[in-house]
Amino acid sequence: MRIAIAKEIAVGERRVALIPDTVSRLVKQGFEVWVESGAGEAAHFPNQAYIDAGAIIVSTPETVYSADLVLKVKPPQETEDGRHEADLLKAGTTLISFLDPLGNPELCQKLAAQQVTAFSMELIPRISRAQSMDALSSQASIAGYKAVLIGAAACPKFFPMLTTAAGTIPPAKVFIIGAGVAGLQAIATARRLGAVVEAFDIRPAVKEECQSLGAKFVEVVLEEETVAAGGYAKEVSEVAKQKTQEAIAAHVKQADVVITTAQVPGKKAPVLVTADMIAAMKPGAVIVDMAAEQGGNCAGTQAGRQIVEHDVTLIGPVNLPATMPVHASQMYAKNLLTLIQHLVKEGQLTLDFDDEITREACVTHAGDIRNQRVRGLLENAVAVGS
Ligand code: NAD
Repeated sequence: MRIAIAKEIAVGERRVALIPDTVSRLVKQGFEVWVESGAGEAAHFPNQAYIDAGAIIVSTPETVYSADLVLKVKPPQETEDGRHEADLLKAGTTLISFLDPLGNPELCQKLAAQQVTAFSMELIPRISRAQSMDALSSQASIAGYKAVLIGAAACPKFFPMLTTAAGTIPPAKVFIIGAGVAGLQAIATARRLGAVVEAFDIRPAVKEECQSLGAKFVEVVLEEETVAAGGYAKEVSEVAKQKTQEAIAAHVKQADVVITTAQVPGKKAPVLVTADMIAAMKPGAVIVDMAAEQGGNCAGTQAGRQIVEHDVTLIGPVNLPATMPVHASQMYAKNLLTLIQHLVKEGQLTLDFDDEITREACVTHAGDIRNQRVRGLLENAVAVGS
């Protein structure tokens, strides 16, 4: 079986789907691995490292996309010359990538129409058996770490407490909103830097995890269910949003750095930090809004920009994992390797749709869109258009 790694073309994307170490493992298992020339360069993996690992360097996207299994990081998109990467895929090819199926269901429609078997890394179920394939988690963890470093760099204060000849410096106060994978890594990172950390999440179950990492948990009792299927947060009512905002306002006000990570899968991110809350923050305070790409958790967040309002710096970073491409690629490659080993038996793609991982992650196969939510989104779009 020929596996090919495409060079990412998305602006700012520095990750690569497989690193040389993973290539070497696949080659030892009998796969032929093609790497598009320069695919690993932005992640500091030169062509020669892939050649040493047993890969074949190929020079054109047309060759890459003619492989049996194509691996990518970002969803296929339009190229500079106006073609679409997805159009290069052949019927019967398998694609594994982040595909943003709920944000871009039209891409799934295109892949289905081309008879491509596509696996979406966002749809790997959050079950113990699939943990080592869980790229949402591996990349969120990197983002949580980096968000704290960005917050610390922009903060005009030390994070740790310091006792010096020039006086005692109190530790910075960091408030993390949303304690999923990214939020928990942010707590751990801020604690390692010596800050005093508070955390909040609408899922009460995460209280103990926050406390075990050294954060004080801010509790808000909401009179409605906040957890949906799979352990994810639900979109809550306006009343609950209001109550949450009132409860967190005092904690936002006294923080030196606020990191927001709150998301609800398939929805716009909830606005939790209002303009009034920002105006009430300490001069010099910093907010890093990790939900910037999903609309933001703060009033006024602009994706990809840093703005200053009322002497508060509001940062809306995008694609944080791409800013740490060595480890982000290493972890993503491990996620892909485990998934490939799950799907390929004796050199053949072997799809068992009774298996939860295969069933959930496979978004298109044999001309069909297999995911019900993606189908629903497309049907709605047709209904609205007609
Ligand atoms: P996510 O990125 O979708 O959301 C980030 C956090 O924002 C979540 O903790 C969510 O509860 C929180 N949030 C949403 N709305 C909020 C609001 N209004 N106010 C405050 N916080 C809000 O989440 P994620 O990090 O991908 O993880 C979500 C779930 O998946 C968790 O239950 C996690 O434990 C679970 N998970 C399980 C596995 C596994 O079993 N293998 C792996 C990873 C994650």
